[in-house]
Parts: sequence; C-alpha cells; structure tokens
Amino acid sequence: MLDGKRCLIVGGGIGGLTAAVALARNGQRVTVIERDPRWSIYGVGIIQQANVVRAMAQLGLADAYLEAGVPFDQVTIHAPGGALIARVPSPRLAEGYPPNVGMSRRRLHDVLLDRAIALGVEIRMGTTVAALTQDDDGVDIEFDDGTDDRFDFVVGADGIYSNLRARLFPEAPQPCFAGQSVWRYNLPRPDDLDSLRVFNGPTGIGLVPMSADTMYMFVTTPEPGNPHYPRKGLAAAMRGKLQSAAPDIQALGERIVDDVEVVYRPLEHLFVDGPWHVGRVVLIGDAVHATTPHLGQGAGLAIEDAVVLAEEVARHAVPEAAFAAYRERRVERCRFVCELSLSICRGQIGEGDPIDNSDATAAMFARTAEPI
Ligand SMILES: Cc1cc2nc3c(=O)[nH]c(=O)nc-3n(C[C@H](O)[C@H](O)[C@H](O)COP(=O)(O)OP(=O)(O)OC[C@H]3O[C@@H](n4cnc5c(N)ncnc54)[C@H](O)[C@@H]3O)c2cc1C
Repeated sequence: MLDGKRCLIVGGGIGGLTAAVALARNGQRVTVIERDPRWSIYGVGIIQQANVVRAMAQLGLADAYLEAGVPFDQVTIHAPGGALIARVPSPRLAEGYPPNVGMSRRRLHDVLLDRAIALGVEIRMGTTVAALTQDDDGVDIEFDDGTDDRFDFVVGADGIYSNLRARLFPEAPQPCFAGQSVWRYNLPRPDDLDSLRVFNGPTGIGLVPMSADTMYMFVTTPEPGNPHYPRKGLAAAMRGKLQSAAPDIQALGERIVDDVEVVYRPLEHLFVDGPWHVGRVVLIGDAVHATTPHLGQGAGLAIEDAVVLAEEVARHAVPEAAFAAYRERRVERCRFVCELSLSICRGQIGEGDPIDNSDATAAMFARTAEPI
C-alpha cells in the first residue's frame, strides 16, 4: 500500500484540486503547482450531476459543496420554440443529497481549495515543470522558478493543452476544434427555473440554475472555420445568436449587454486511447479525455478520475500498478461520455445523424450512475 508518499500534482484546476483532496485524505503528502499566478477562474457556472454529488459525498465534501450551489432534480428538453419535449429525471446517487447541482465555477474552486488547504496540501502558484526525470524510485522535478524537488509520483492535471501529456506522449492526439463554439452569460434566475432547461436546435440553448437568484445561459452555435470574435461587440454578437430562439429566451437575451461578461469559447475535444501513465507519472481529467460540454460531464469525469486514482494508489504497493488499475476503471466510461457528447455536437452541425437529446441525457445518467 502506498501511504505517506510525496506526490506532485501539476495543475490546480477542478481535477487537480480534487485529486489533492482525495490523495491527502488517504495519507499522501501532496504539493500542487499551478501555472497561473492569480487563479483566474471565469465567473460563469458549471453543471454538476448525480455522479459528481456522489463523488463529493465520498470525499466528505458534499455539505460544503451543496452550500456553494443550488440543487435541481431533472433536465427538461424543449423544442427550439420552447414547447416541453421531455423531462429526464436524474438518479439520486448519494443518500440524503439531491441529484444535481448548479454552481459558480469560482465557488466550486473555493470549496476544493479550502479543503485541500485544510488537509495540509502545499500550494505553489505561478510555477510549472521545467524538467522531469524519473528512475525506479521517484521523479526529479526542476521547476521553472529555479527550484527542484523529488517526489514519489506525479499527477498531471494540466488540462486539455497538457504540457505533461506532450512530455510523456509526444505522439498523442492534439485538441481538435469540434465545429461549434459556446457563449455563456450570467443572468437573474427566473422564479420558475427549477431544472436544467435545454432547448434543441442547430443553435442549442441552456438555462442553468447557479444560486437562489442567478443562472447562466449557454448558447452553442455552429462556427465554421472557428472565427475570432473581438471582445468589443461580444454581447451584441451573443444576442444576435438568439434571433430564432423562443420569445422568452430572446427577452432574457436583451439583458446580455456587457462585452466583458460574455464567456466565448470554441469547443475542442481530445481522447488519449493508449496508456495514461509512464512510470511514476500519470494524467487525469482533460489532459487525457476532454469532452465537448453537451452532456455537462467534463469536470465530473475529472472529479471521478481523482477519486479512483486515490483509491488505487491506496490499494497498490507501486505507482505503476495503481495507475494501470486507475485507467482500467476509467477509460471506457470516459470514452462513452466523450463519444456521445461529440455525436450530439456533430448532429447539431449536420456532420452526423441528429441525436435525440433526451435519449442521450438518459443514457449518460444511466452510465454515470454505475459505480465508479
Ligand atoms: C464551454 C465549456 C463548458 C463546460 N461545462 C461543464 C459543465 O457544465 N459541467 C462539467 O462537468 N464540465 C464542464 N466542462 C468541462 C470542464 O470545464 C473540464 O472538463 C474541467 O475543467 C477539466 O478539469 P481539469 O482539472 O482536467 O482541467 P482544467 O480545469 O483545465 O485545469 C487545468 C489547470 O492546470 C493549470 N495548468 C495548465 N498547464 C499547466 C502547467 N504546465 N503547469 C501548471 N499548471 C498548469 C491551468 O491553469 C488550470 O488551472 C465544460 C467545458 C467547456 C469548454
């Protein structure tokens, strides 16, 4: 059993901080390095579904986590004009807790960071790995601030553009533009918004409760050629994408007025089919499986990765065996979500058969309800 080992986590995003909590709870001595000196987390929200609530309960984080967001029971699917097509109930996977949660990304980050600090995790900001060499007993790291250190194992949680992935697997696929972009904006929450509300169409729209009085709207649009939108005029551009939306969505859209508050992002995807570790260095989260957000599961998968990794590290005597067992438990579930999510995107942009959103959401709930 690996216990009391020194572990370096590269990347203090959702996956990295969850791994820090999960590993530290199991008695590992954890350091997190984060390249961004200020932790600039954008202010819109995030959908967290039943499997994430279950993972948070497993980590003893569910109460703090639920306090930071708002619960909702189901996903409702609507025609582009607004008519209700289906209610997709979400499974309840953690006893005493709601099925789903919507929250601000900043608040999720704070919940994870506060717990990591409380568990004694060392956090180093504004630094990254300059050089990495490993032998049979450990990993030597040179940091880009000129310091160096030695660890028993290293976890790469450095996101879709992972430097560690490039070091370990230079032949691995690169992030690929999916043909769509997403526009997000925080708005006051309508009184009757008690579910995640999804509107079908070539332009997909969603309303996500985020707190008692706020929500965010996301709008996925086909963007052939991946055009650049300048910051100035972004709010008007987002409003323009709502021209064929239901009247109440257009009315909400009238409040999209601040260019700075629009979060625009081209959608990319990536899946590493081969191994996820080399020796004592392993990758989690978007570094190995970045899904498009159509099923709201990317962070959920990163969080589950962290829980499973910590369990396997606690179970095995050597990191390599733990890492192989971790990938074995994760790879097909992650592939399922990534492929289903991408097929929704392809259907929406006419590059594949249209996918029924309610069937896809129900299939995602069924698969992610399985034990991790
Ligand atoms: C538009 C959009 C909407 C989404 N909505 C949802 C949703 O509703 N629900 C959901 O579950 N998921 C959602 N996701 C997916 C989710 O955001 C990601 O899957 C999740 O953030 C992945 O976590 P991660 O820790 O692997 O990577 P990241 O969150 O990208 O974190 C990586 C961290 O590593 C740091 N870093 C990068 N390189 C280095 C380096 N070399 N050295 C040190 N630090 C480094 C970064 O600064 C960052 O802090 C969405 C994604 C997109 C694009």
